[in-house]
Amino acid sequence: MARAAVPGGLSARRAWRDATLVERRPETDSAVTLVLDVDGWPGHLPGQHVDVRLTAPDGYTATRSYSVSAPEHGDRVELTIQRVPDGEVSTFLADGLAVGDAVRLRGPVGGWFVWRPGQAGPVLLVAGGSGIVPLMAMLRARVAGSPPFRLVYSVREPDDVIYRDELAAIAATDDVEVRLVHTRRAPEGAARPAGRLQGTDLLTATGWDGGDPPTCYVCGPTGFVESAADLLVGLGHAADRIRTERFGPSGP
Ligand SMILES: Cc1cc2nc3c(=O)[nH]c(=O)nc-3n(C[C@H](O)[C@H](O)[C@H](O)COP(=O)(O)OP(=O)(O)OC[C@H]3O[C@@H](n4cnc5c(N)ncnc54)[C@H](O)[C@@H]3O)c2cc1C
Repeated sequence: MARAAVPGGLSARRAWRDATLVERRPETDSAVTLVLDVDGWPGHLPGQHVDVRLTAPDGYTATRSYSVSAPEHGDRVELTIQRVPDGEVSTFLADGLAVGDAVRLRGPVGGWFVWRPGQAGPVLLVAGGSGIVPLMAMLRARVAGSPPFRLVYSVREPDDVIYRDELAAIAATDDVEVRLVHTRRAPEGAARPAGRLQGTDLLTATGWDGGDPPTCYVCGPTGFVESAADLLVGLGHAADRIRTERFGPSGP
């Protein structure tokens, strides 16, 4: 089956563009959503990321990758930044970038870790910490009649849940299940005690009703992604149905 092309030609995706911050939305104590207006943005697919480049007055530059958190919408690109203690770029983006300020940005990047609206078959999303960001873009791109999704989202404690209210609203719909896994502290009265992600939190390869196996998207810190992918393989999921994206070293 032919795949829909990734938006933008190669040279368009490699070009650095001016991006102006138009809105900041706090998500948790340590995460903020930035809405950027990007000159001539070629569009993107849920799951893709961009490169953001900061330049200091002395010419020093630092570049980091950030996933898009919302589906394509004209020249707007939404990112959600989790502040990493002592992190060079995340602390500046989370705390220092003000509405009206500009950064340089290029992309979109990535053609495998994407969910294309209209793609057939059920979907299992597995997020650790800020790994929820590209998976949220997939959830937000769903429309009525899309295949069923299950999100399994691992956080240290309840206050760490990014997009909390929106996820609660999504969980109230019939065809998306949202399961929170708290690794250090669960909310009072929670049915699931705090603890690391286990196979019983996920889905077997036969999916919901013994039907089509889901395509799995796993995103988060490297250690989390590796252990979640091992659990999925242990549950019988074929390796080529498990798509992974690694953000960095540590995690929930
Ligand atoms: C494809 C891709 C998509 C990404 N999407 C997002 C996103 O949507 N939102 C987001 O917040 N981040 C995302 N990241 C992570 C991001 O690129 C940076 O690595 C992160 O913001 C830290 O950068 P920094 O400059 O603040 O930290 P640095 O100055 O590079 O590192 C400071 C310290 O933090 C450690 N560290 C670095 N990265 C992480 C991390 N991710 N978690 C924990 N510790 C870390 C380093 O080992 C070092 O000790 C993504 C990464 C990749 C590869």
